[in-house]
Amino acid sequence: MTWTHDDGVWRLAFLLDPEDETTGTCTDGQRLELRTNSCHVRLPYPVPSVHPDLLAVAAWTVAAPWTRRRVTFDRPISPAVAEALRTGWGVDAGPVGEDPRSGSRLALSYSGGADSMAVASIFPDVPFVHFQRVSHPRVPNRWTHYRSDVLAKLARRTGRDVTVVQSDLEFVLSFPRPGYPEHHAVTVGALLLADELDLGGVALGYELGSRWLGGGRYVHRYTPDNPMWAAHGKWGRLFAAAGLPMVLPVGGVSEAVTMRLALESDLRDLVRWCLRGSGDGPCGRCGKCLYKELIQAAIERRPLRTTLTADSVPARKWQQPPPYGGQEMVAYGCARVPGIEHTPFAKAAQYLAPTIESTSWLDHYYPPALEEIPPPWREQVETRLVQKVGLMTEDQARQVETWGER
Ligand SMILES: [Zn+2]
Repeated sequence: MTWTHDDGVWRLAFLLDPEDETTGTCTDGQRLELRTNSCHVRLPYPVPSVHPDLLAVAAWTVAAPWTRRRVTFDRPISPAVAEALRTGWGVDAGPVGEDPRSGSRLALSYSGGADSMAVASIFPDVPFVHFQRVSHPRVPNRWTHYRSDVLAKLARRTGRDVTVVQSDLEFVLSFPRPGYPEHHAVTVGALLLADELDLGGVALGYELGSRWLGGGRYVHRYTPDNPMWAAHGKWGRLFAAAGLPMVLPVGGVSEAVTMRLALESDLRDLVRWCLRGSGDGPCGRCGKCLYKELIQAAIERRPLRTTLTADSVPARKWQQPPPYGGQEMVAYGCARVPGIEHTPFAKAAQYLAPTIESTSWLDHYYPPALEEIPPPWREQVETRLVQKVGLMTEDQARQVETWGER
């Protein structure tokens, strides 16, 4: 596993050992295929040196799916990082022999979506690090509709302290499509800049669904031990060992709350969850736009604004019985959007039969999430989020803890 750097550009190359494979599995269970073994990360300015633990964790976010038994870094790592790799993945990592690092400030891995904008509103002074996809020199980009340039421009327009970090690391995958080999690869910029910015934590916009309900393409059941985002999970321990614990300020609230925070934010006009729209707006025609429109319409208690019909491709999954990705929010939306029976969510509303009462837990904070916030940043989450939305009652918390059983 070798990092070389020149004028702000850090290049990673990794060689597979005989027992390694070019087919792997992301921590969320998705099968992946490797396309190429090198990538680069372009920082906006040169940094003279980066602690080897940070380099090792950054490399691991790209190489973990393919590695079976051992990993050799080009610089010695600390015993704590080696231990986290051993206990988390059963991987022998070395050489060992570096002192641990630490830092004091928080940075936000900012995507421009509602969830990370909600974190930005809770922490109005933290710097943003934005990951921007760029093309790989040896891999043709067949995903030109993905407007990473628009997202980077919007991030810069926030007026916050924004560092845009460019990388082609998503193109190391040939299957299912270009993307992060591990979701944590989005933090490579924060990792490589952590010494320079004195970072002691990286905040991410993962909300209740991702952290506790196994959302997205993951398991759809209550996941206290979520291996990706639990503080005590394998990735949580690895980042903490490198002196950059992951911080999930909105890990205790649903997308209803993050959407509300984003829409109340002074950055509201810059929120963007769709990667397809160019210029000034989201495309309004993809599955993600439809899903987010449902949440926004629910919050604003107004009819759905969409030209998509039930037989359109993006709406197809909502015509099937559950489970759905983000099912809790589909239920929340179906319970609140007037005239839902005339929308592409009509069938889902029938299947789920939600009520405002049965989905009211999604307006409050799940208490155990607070204990996962490292102490330096917990109080701010308490005063700027928990006090505002209120803690879930025991009955409401039980909705979280029995998720996927019903
Ligand atoms: Zn869209």
